[in-house]
Amino acid sequence: MEIIWSLPEGQHMVPEKKGDLIYLVYPGWKDQKEYVHGFSTRLGGVSQGMYSSMNLSFTRGDEETAVQENFRRISEAIGFLKEDLVCSDQTHTTNVRRVGKQDRGKGITRPKNFTDVDGLITNEPGVVLATFYADCVPLFFIDPVHKAVGLSHSGWKGTVGKIGKVTVEAMEREFGTRPEELLAAVGPSICQKCYEVSEDVIRQFQEHFTEKQQEALYYRKENGKYQLDLWKANEFVFLEAGILPEHIQMPGICTCCNPDFLFSHRASKGKRGNLGAFLGIR
Ligand SMILES: [Zn+2]
Repeated sequence: MEIIWSLPEGQHMVPEKKGDLIYLVYPGWKDQKEYVHGFSTRLGGVSQGMYSSMNLSFTRGDEETAVQENFRRISEAIGFLKEDLVCSDQTHTTNVRRVGKQDRGKGITRPKNFTDVDGLITNEPGVVLATFYADCVPLFFIDPVHKAVGLSHSGWKGTVGKIGKVTVEAMEREFGTRPEELLAAVGPSICQKCYEVSEDVIRQFQEHFTEKQQEALYYRKENGKYQLDLWKANEFVFLEAGILPEHIQMPGICTCCNPDFLFSHRASKGKRGNLGAFLGIR
């Protein structure tokens, strides 16, 4: 399978293989041995058809036993147990929830007791945060000084609401995090070339980003639609939150450009499974 990378080697995420299972990691985080992170691909699971094969959604019509096995496999590959996971409840909000050991297994082995949570933070070892994707933007945060992590789901609504900044502020409040010490990364998601949006979406970005920023975020086409860069927008959000440019990593891979390798809502017209982002403290 040919993978289309949008950044040169050394700057994009790197595939890690375990048998036929492949997941992606950040090359700049290889030395962060106290943390476990990864982003799943479609490869290495047991689901069939449009869910083939590493679908991590229980709510899109796939068989539950297959999804449980997929979670078991991806967890083992990246280096934790599925029982350690705490899952988000993504509804395009900017709500960020602090979780801990008492929440382990929620969304996998037992029901969640919360709703409308698009961002998760923790400072407890043994807890692995999980959020889910098929074009929307994953945001990863590691605070190596206070030993804390954050993981947030940033679609266009979350980006307009600047959930990245909300997550940093939650970590500051809860863990004493200083933004200039944070390591942050944008995860695999839809690129500007693939992401056409209508004027009502752009109007929201005009309200929440400066004119200078807008020049770098979108352009108008002859059909009256726009091409929007959610990666750049979230980079702006990171910078606004006080994260240093040299502490930011970009994915260098688009879900929609690689629909056989990654699930893409746009490329599949909604017939798809979910990818997972994972981040925890060992
Ligand atoms: Zn693309």
